[in-house]
Amino acid sequence: MAIIVQKYGGTSVGDLDKLRQVARRVAARFEAGDSPVVAVSAMGKTTDELIALARQVNADVTIGIPPAARELDMLMVTGEHVSASLLALTLQAMGHPAVSLGGHQAGFRTDQAFGKARILNLEPERILREVREGKIVVVAGFHGSTEDGDTATFGRGGSDTTAVALAAALGARVCEIYTDVEGVLTADPRVVPDARKLDEISYDEMLELASYGARVMHNRAVELAAIYRVPILVASTFGETPGTLIHGGPSVEQRSKVRGVAYDIDVAKLTLLGVPDRPGIAATIFEPLGESNISVDTIVQNVSHDNLTDLTFTVARGELEQARAILEPFLKDVGARGLEADASVAKVSIVGTGMQNAPGYASRMFRALADGGINIQMISTSEIRITCIVDDGQVTDAVRVLHEAFGLATISG
Ligand code: ASP
Ligand code: MG
Repeated sequence: MAIIVQKYGGTSVGDLDKLRQVARRVAARFEAGDSPVVAVSAMGKTTDELIALARQVNADVTIGIPPAARELDMLMVTGEHVSASLLALTLQAMGHPAVSLGGHQAGFRTDQAFGKARILNLEPERILREVREGKIVVVAGFHGSTEDGDTATFGRGGSDTTAVALAAALGARVCEIYTDVEGVLTADPRVVPDARKLDEISYDEMLELASYGARVMHNRAVELAAIYRVPILVASTFGETPGTLIHGGPSVEQRSKVRGVAYDIDVAKLTLLGVPDRPGIAATIFEPLGESNISVDTIVQNVSHDNLTDLTFTVARGELEQARAILEPFLKDVGARGLEADASVAKVSIVGTGMQNAPGYASRMFRALADGGINIQMISTSEIRITCIVDDGQVTDAVRVLHEAFGLATISG
């Protein structure tokens, strides 16, 4: 008897028919001799609807901002409770012993950060007792309880984190995440119709792909899986394809060095013009942004002429105005000539672990973009990623051009 952890997302339990299909999948594994522990999200768009409902009575409601954050968490988890109890009831109706548990009962202890809580500890005793008694356990996803017994959620999409934490604590061989896509793809299929499903990918590659726009899974869940070395299988709930295994690598198979192309349009660019080139300037500029929790991404400082330089960097589009307002008063202090803002940029990245030991990937990327008539405004790299900032009107072309240039539609693996 092995414990298997499965997670079904909102679309997978979107209506009662789908819920029954999910129940049949879970039951099949149970009948085959496994002990399923299943994490579920709220049905369909329930979470969005609950948030909208809260805003009707209190316009100030924002996830994670007190004092409403605590109440919003109380409200949102009702969605997960509905799914969990309905799935347990469906399984019972099919003749299987099943029990649903809320985050507190399942043993999730969190800090007090409502709306973005961290798991401090997972005490799996209750789950293990139910499993020993021969029951299928269904856990309401995305929350736990604080020291005071209050309900705290892990942030939007947090049921993935519930599942990975369960798999780690219960020693499951793999954490199965069932969703509405067939796995992790080489690019966004809405942009690249012949994007291909990857059979496997490393945690690092997945994190880079996800933070640059491939939102298949919650990033925190992948980070957690990497720490506890829990392999994750992402697969379609209703399809029969084998899905993508996210693992600690290295890969045994011969694989292409570029694994995927990601893009992100939630990007804006700020340029400080004519900044004096002397020690402390960058610190003076970036400290106040950091203090306001604005994360700065790609940063480029030009070589200076006459001791003046331009400093360009990107922020999330939604934070552009705030960043501008913070920087304006500093312009005089640092002696800069001006500040330019541009919200019409986007990021496109190629990602792959194998690139770090192989030359020529950057030049191939730049050549492909040039041949596509796409101007590169900024470039940044990590060990396993090369990112270009381009005009946002050209970003989908850029994705297609790169997908083609690196042969991603045809390379296997
Ligand atoms: N229902 C929550 C959300 O929509 C949690 C989840 O789906 O993982 O964000
Ligand atoms: Mg959801």
